[in-house]
Amino acid sequence: MSKATTAERLAIHGGEQVVKGSFPWPIFDEQDVQAVADVVRSGQWGNPDCGDAIAAFERQFADYCGSRYAVSCVNGSVSLRLALIACGVRPGDEVIVPPYTFIATASIVLEANCVPVFVDIDPDTYNLDPTKLEAAITERTRVIIPVHFAGLACNMDAILSVARGHNLRVIEDAAHAHGGEYRGKKLGSIGDAGSFSFQSSKNLTSGEGGIVITNDEGLYQTMNSLRNVGRMPGGQWYDHFNPGCNYRITQLQAVLLTEQLKRLDEQTYTRNENGLYLDQLLADIDGITPLSRGNVAIRHCYHLYIFRYDKAKFGDIPKKEFVSMLSAEGVPCSTGYPHPLYKQPLFQQKNWMCYAISDYVDYTAVHCAVAERACTDEAVWIFQHAMLGTRHDMESFAEAIRKIQRILKSERVNE
Ligand SMILES: *Cc1c(COP(=O)(O)O)cnc(C)c1O
Repeated sequence: MSKATTAERLAIHGGEQVVKGSFPWPIFDEQDVQAVADVVRSGQWGNPDCGDAIAAFERQFADYCGSRYAVSCVNGSVSLRLALIACGVRPGDEVIVPPYTFIATASIVLEANCVPVFVDIDPDTYNLDPTKLEAAITERTRVIIPVHFAGLACNMDAILSVARGHNLRVIEDAAHAHGGEYRGKKLGSIGDAGSFSFQSSKNLTSGEGGIVITNDEGLYQTMNSLRNVGRMPGGQWYDHFNPGCNYRITQLQAVLLTEQLKRLDEQTYTRNENGLYLDQLLADIDGITPLSRGNVAIRHCYHLYIFRYDKAKFGDIPKKEFVSMLSAEGVPCSTGYPHPLYKQPLFQQKNWMCYAISDYVDYTAVHCAVAERACTDEAVWIFQHAMLGTRHDMESFAEAIRKIQRILKSERVNE
């Protein structure tokens, strides 16, 4: 470890930033603008009665994922909800979810009057730990919702094997995972259904939006009806067969997504390559441990690049301070979720409102040690748009971490 020079100061204390690159997001050009402008001029903005840009995008996205069907909708929460309801869950059914994910993965379960059951994550991947599934399954369990967290494929072989053994449906939450792969299959195409978000931070975006893919014709027909106020093909405009709502996207979103999809493969390739390189660079830093990519062939799409932080090697400064320092050095990063989901007031205080959740449900006793440690002490997230930078940018991220470590160590020596 080289000694800090007297000139070296943290950017947070007015020193020079290590990272010089900038990381724009979203990325677009005149073709995106033209596609949206053309829809505006056509006057055919809506769905489903005018134009066919939405059906065309759904076909393209399904083909890209190697799935038979796709149903677009207003966001990646509703897409999960459509899939769950189409699976035929009843009030009181249990649905297994990880605690280290965005709230939607669990809140859509409540919205179906079902009970989210939290199963801890694997410490090396931060994905649902398949070895803990069996113990969580009861006679009420119907569905497992694994999240390909950060864009890293879950251990789908293990999850599907448990699911088959208990006749459970598997809905992949692929909100982080557009273009990611597991053993040559696109994430989202492996379970019964796969749900994606097009919210502005996601790897494929139209500001807001979502889509759910499936190979199951029955699920497709139900989801297609639910997102279109319960209408059915062949029915009349005011015939409503199912308890759906208007969850449709606009043609403006569909043409923008069609343009954005053209970039997805190349962007995913870049993020994956940068992630592999950053893994190498960070492996050399004492106290920084990149997450494992698992043991099978994957393509990681790095919605987040996550590493584990050990404060003992950084002068005992808490993760939050470290992340402030790293941000100041120019690395687009975050401490991530402050708590596992079951610690949210929604669950702790049983704020179920109109939803019918059984009295036996009590989240104050839930304890997922790995997820808690990830939230409070360990996990540092670098955002996906930063992973679209150059190899030199990756080197500068590693150097920013080394600089912080160097200065903290020399401060300790000088105390
Ligand atoms: C973003 C996200 C969602 C929800 O998507 P929205 O489009 O914001 O509704 C669901 N699950 C995960 C893991 C997410 O990150």
